[in-house]
Amino acid sequence: MNSRDFFIFPENIDIFVFDATPLLSGIDIGIFNELCYTTSEIIDEIKRPVISNKIDNFILNRSLSIVEVPNSFIKKIQQLARKSGDLKSLSQGDISVLGCGLYLNASYRKQFGVGNKNHAAVYLVSDDYSIQNVARLAHINTKSFKKKGIKQFIRWQSYCPNCHKEYIPEFFGSKCPNCSAIIKRRPKK
Ligand SMILES: [Zn+2]
Repeated sequence: MNSRDFFIFPENIDIFVFDATPLLSGIDIGIFNELCYTTSEIIDEIKRPVISNKIDNFILNRSLSIVEVPNSFIKKIQQLARKSGDLKSLSQGDISVLGCGLYLNASYRKQFGVGNKNHAAVYLVSDDYSIQNVARLAHINTKSFKKKGIKQFIRWQSYCPNCHKEYIPEFFGSKCPNCSAIIKRRPKK
């Protein structure tokens, strides 16, 4: 990986990476002292005209910036999400903001070093449990927008709600090989 693959922080200041949910709530990005970012995949997921106009204005007045996340960080997130069983619950936008958090963390360390005396950090702002779960695996800080964040990492177990057979996490969302019902998931005890 060469240096132009890294994001250059304009200042040593906290960073918020926004998932679709807080943006869809109509939140006023202008009130934050933190630098605010999201991805083009998230912008694409926001299809409500009024909200989209508001967000376009945030982008125009530079309250919100779009990060292009290198593919290597997206791939790393997909690997982690597959491992945790969250991959199928994550949209392309979700994966992109997770990739963005990983990318900014790596860039931050490259620019300011590990254990520097400044304590700015990157936070992923999301209420989605699967995003928070994978973020924890990827060592990305999260901030919950509304709900209380998950306290601990969830290990998922997939199961068939019809015939009650249990499956590995990857089966979530597909058809039960035994009875063809759609496989659900629950936290493993
Ligand atoms: Zn079944």
